[in-house]
Amino acid sequence: MAQQVEVLWLGHATFRITSTTGKVIVIDPFLKRNPRAPAKYKDLKALGKVDMILVTHGHSDHVSDLAELAKMSGATVVINFELGFNLIALGMLDGSKTIAMNKGGAAAPLGPGIKVHMVPAEHSSSFDLVSIKPEATGVRYIQGGVPVGYVIELENGFRIYHTGDTDVFGDMAFIGKFHKLDLALVCIGGHFTMDPERAAYAMRELIRPKQVIPMHYGTYPVVNRTPAEFKAALGNTPIKVLDVKPGEALKF
Ligand SMILES: [Zn+2]
Repeated sequence: MAQQVEVLWLGHATFRITSTTGKVIVIDPFLKRNPRAPAKYKDLKALGKVDMILVTHGHSDHVSDLAELAKMSGATVVINFELGFNLIALGMLDGSKTIAMNKGGAAAPLGPGIKVHMVPAEHSSSFDLVSIKPEATGVRYIQGGVPVGYVIELENGFRIYHTGDTDVFGDMAFIGKFHKLDLALVCIGGHFTMDPERAAYAMRELIRPKQVIPMHYGTYPVVNRTPAEFKAALGNTPIKVLDVKPGEALKF
C-alpha cells in the first residue's frame, strides 16, 4: 500500500505535512514560544528532516523559529517577496535556498510531484525587529510584504489549503474554483483573523473543501473561539470538521 499523507498540527498555524514519498513540509514554524505546541517540539530537532518551509506572513507567531529551522534543516523556504529579501538582508535566510515569490505564483522545489501555489490572504504582514534586537529603537515593524496562503498539491493529487491569517474575502471563491481541495487548514480564532462564523461562511460558500482542520485558536486569550462554535456555524454541510489536538497527526 502506498504511504499516506500525514498532517501533524503543532498548535496555532504551525503544521508539518509528510507526503506519500516522504517529503516533509513545515508551515509557519512557531514552536518554542507557542503556548500550544507540545513540549517535545520546543526542540526543533523533534521535527525530523524538513525539505521545505512555507511562510504565510511576517508576524512573530508565524516566523519566530523560521531562521533557526531553515539553517538547521537546509530546507527551501517559500515566502513572499519583500519579507523574503528583508530576512535575507538581515542574515536570517540563505538567499540560495529562498524562493521569494508573490500571489499567483507556484513553485516545485521538491521536484515535479509537489507543487505549491501562493494565494491571497486578507491580513497584514510585517516583521518585528524587536524579536531579534530587543534594543531596537525608532522603527519597530519593517516591511513584511503581503500576507498569503498556500495550496499544496501532493504527488498523489491530494490538495491542502492553508489559509494563513485572513478574514473572509470574496476572491476565496477563485481558490475553491481553481483547486479541488481535499483538506483546508483554517483560522477560526477571531480578533486577528476570521472567527468561526466568518470561517464557516468562507468554507461553505467559497472554498468548499472536503475536510477542515480548524487552527489559530486557543493560543492566547484574544483568540478564544472554538471548533465546536465553528461546527455549529457550518450547520448542515457535507464538509467534515476534524477537531485535532496539537501534537495529533492525521493520515489521509
Ligand atoms: Zn498575523
